[in-house]
Amino acid sequence: MEYVHWAGREDCPSVSRLGFGTTRFFQSDLNTAEGFEKCVDLVTYAISKGINYFDVAPTYSNGLAEKILGEAFSHVRTPVYVAAKTGLSIDKTSDDVLRRIDSSLRLLSRDKIDFYHIWSVMDWTQYLTICERGGVLDGVMKAKDQKLIDHICISLHCDTDTVLRILEEDIFEGITISLNALNFRKWLQVLEKAREKHIAVVTMNSLAGGMIPQYKHLFENLDRSNDSVPQKALRFVSQLPGIHVALSGMPTREIIHENCTVMDSIHDVKSDLNFELPVKERMCSGCGYCSPCTVGIPISACMQSYNHKVLVESGDKIISEQTVANDIFTRIRANGVIFPELSQCISCRICEKRCTQKINISERMKWLLLTSKKYGYDNETMLNRLHNVEEKCRDSQRIAIWPAADYASRVLDYWKNPEFERRCVFINSSPAMWGKKFRDKTIEKPDTIIKKGIDTIVIMHHRLQCSIYDEVSKTYKNCKIVCLHEDSDIDWFNRMI
Ligand code: SF4
Ligand code: SF4
Repeated sequence: MEYVHWAGREDCPSVSRLGFGTTRFFQSDLNTAEGFEKCVDLVTYAISKGINYFDVAPTYSNGLAEKILGEAFSHVRTPVYVAAKTGLSIDKTSDDVLRRIDSSLRLLSRDKIDFYHIWSVMDWTQYLTICERGGVLDGVMKAKDQKLIDHICISLHCDTDTVLRILEEDIFEGITISLNALNFRKWLQVLEKAREKHIAVVTMNSLAGGMIPQYKHLFENLDRSNDSVPQKALRFVSQLPGIHVALSGMPTREIIHENCTVMDSIHDVKSDLNFELPVKERMCSGCGYCSPCTVGIPISACMQSYNHKVLVESGDKIISEQTVANDIFTRIRANGVIFPELSQCISCRICEKRCTQKINISERMKWLLLTSKKYGYDNETMLNRLHNVEEKCRDSQRIAIWPAADYASRVLDYWKNPEFERRCVFINSSPAMWGKKFRDKTIEKPDTIIKKGIDTIVIMHHRLQCSIYDEVSKTYKNCKIVCLHEDSDIDWFNRMI
């Protein structure tokens, strides 16, 4: 592991160049005691690999991140350093901040916080608000006087001019910014100013909200190694002059190991720091600051899906509009967006004022809505398809749904048709599934179809539809077979993207 004096100052701790972000624990692990222990174990492993910088906030990972760190720290003797946070979204007054720090210290099992951040300042107006008498900054200053925190820092989601202006205030010893191979150019001036003023720079979002691995062919040239694109992207950020720590959310031991390997080779493999990615439009970073939408649209999910269009249009491959649309809407569906939500955008543009990337969100919403209708990816098409299934099953008293799996469950949740579901028997060909509960019924073996005289089988899966059809149509020649999907359909409910 490579270490550096925080802010390049000899009087500051020596921190690992790789920092551990605490927003990426598996959601499923946050719901159980065993899962909590797995998260603790992951942090302990990261410490054993030499990582000593941990970034946390009171709300991260369902509010459990501070507790996870506190538990892990109690098992280790090596020095670890914590960047914790307060901010206008959770605290308004100086007293709020002091209470917050008290709570964080207890959860983290520490007597002081090394790098205390005022969290997520979006613009100069917000900055002035945190500086008001009796406000957030006052509380942070008092905490420093009381030796509850060591260094005052700020995390910034504003334009670089505002960042430069804030640096000129000479209040903050460290900043945390969202910097990656997609947006690094806009930060170069800030990095220079921070170096000049001996201000620590910590980066988050080195994979640009997952876009870099998703479009990895565009990023292969970040360096000449054979490493994976995420590794290259992390190395790239770490090699930019003036970056002290690059944060990474690392949900598995393998990822921790890979990222540590990058830090070990940081001097051997040179990144192309002049890397150019020809993107013609602004891209959504997935930061989520545009929310909440006036009418409840999940804006970030929609805008991140739209990024695909920006990247495709910025590349040199010719890809048809329908293919691009197909990919975008598969992603939107995977993010759980339903189309009445999209059509409800009233173009109030409130989200645009909050957007960190200054994206014309309402225009993109219009494009999404029009394109969904053009290619039949809209809600109406889905409901028509389900209506057709219902019609074909009109005279069947017993309907086999095949396979009884997540996909079918999501379709049935979406459909909300208890009369249809009452007639269903759930089938799966995997013996591991037989007898398990599925939507208040039990998953049955395929031979149930014959034993119970079932006359209709509905294949309810997108990706597996063809192979299931081949199997079922040979074995159950007397059954009517109904396929939910048509060839031109997108995957309605794939959450694996
Ligand atoms: S412009 Fe549309 S997406 Fe944005 S807040 Fe208004 S309604 Fe929501
Ligand atoms: S639309 Fe803007 S504010 Fe919303 S997630 Fe994307 S970049 Fe962030």
